Amino acid sequence: MFNETPGGDQPYYYRSAHTMPNSQPPSRLSDQTMDHAQDQPPAEPLIQTKNVSRQYRLGEAVISAVNDVSLEIRAGEFVALLGSSGSGKSTFLNLLAGLDRPTSGAIHVRGRNLAAIDSVELARYRRDTVGMVFQSFNLLPRMTLEENVELPLRLAEVERGERAGRVAAALEHVRLGARRGHRPSELSGGEQQRGALARALVNRPAILFADEPTGNLDSVNGEQILLLLREIQSTLGMTIIMVTHERPLAERFANRIAVLSDGRLVSDTAQNRDSVETGLRGTA
Ligand code: ADP
Ligand code: MG
Repeated sequence: MFNETPGGDQPYYYRSAHTMPNSQPPSRLSDQTMDHAQDQPPAEPLIQTKNVSRQYRLGEAVISAVNDVSLEIRAGEFVALLGSSGSGKSTFLNLLAGLDRPTSGAIHVRGRNLAAIDSVELARYRRDTVGMVFQSFNLLPRMTLEENVELPLRLAEVERGERAGRVAAALEHVRLGARRGHRPSELSGGEQQRGALARALVNRPAILFADEPTGNLDSVNGEQILLLLREIQSTLGMTIIMVTHERPLAERFANRIAVLSDGRLVSDTAQNRDSVETGLRGTA
């Protein structure tokens, strides 16, 4: 039950990727509530990729942006995807989020293969299961913060009476209750990204994807976003998959670090939970 707006005025699941020529908006949202980890038998990974590759063809050249990646992610994990620029992090994240399809390989999420389902089902997956935040915050400038956060609920046809409470709760979660009437231009970068996080959370997705969420922020505001992600993981039980090229941040906040290099998974390391920071400090 998630909607995002990485650019333009269209929620991203309405967007027609070139790999999804017949993408159509879902007609309406099911009444299903996301139960996160409880839905998943403990032994089953939430996400399982098998030999996933994504190639881009540019004239004669073939670029292997993601090359034969096999990875399992369990419900409740906070995974950081590390790698230098151009290593395939965003491409891989977009495949997991159902924004793109692999050239070959399988991506199973809760037993369904994202590489095999049709465009309508894939759109439903993005809407019902996925939340996403990007480096650029992508709040709609003409709307107040509250309206931005409410948008996914409206698009998902959540009853009007229920929407206000859920928007308020999401804004409280990111410590922005007092800013609800502001437009994005009246908010700092850190506040805008926290607002984008509230919008990603408001439909309670099982999986939150974040692509360089701190890339446009200074270190203090970046840290606040990471602390919020960590809190969201522990209090809401969400699975978090975050792209970053900042290893120190990944080491402090993620439970696991997977490193891509030239499209290949070159390491995948669990982090000692005791060394990972918890708790949220005051937000400016
Ligand atoms: P990262 O997020 O790690 O910086 P990307 O996943 O964006 O890396 O890109 C991986 C590789 O794929 C790069 O070589 C990039 O130039 C290439 N690439 C990404 N998107 C496209 C595209 N739409 N068309 C052609 N090449 C692309
Ligand atoms: Mg990228």
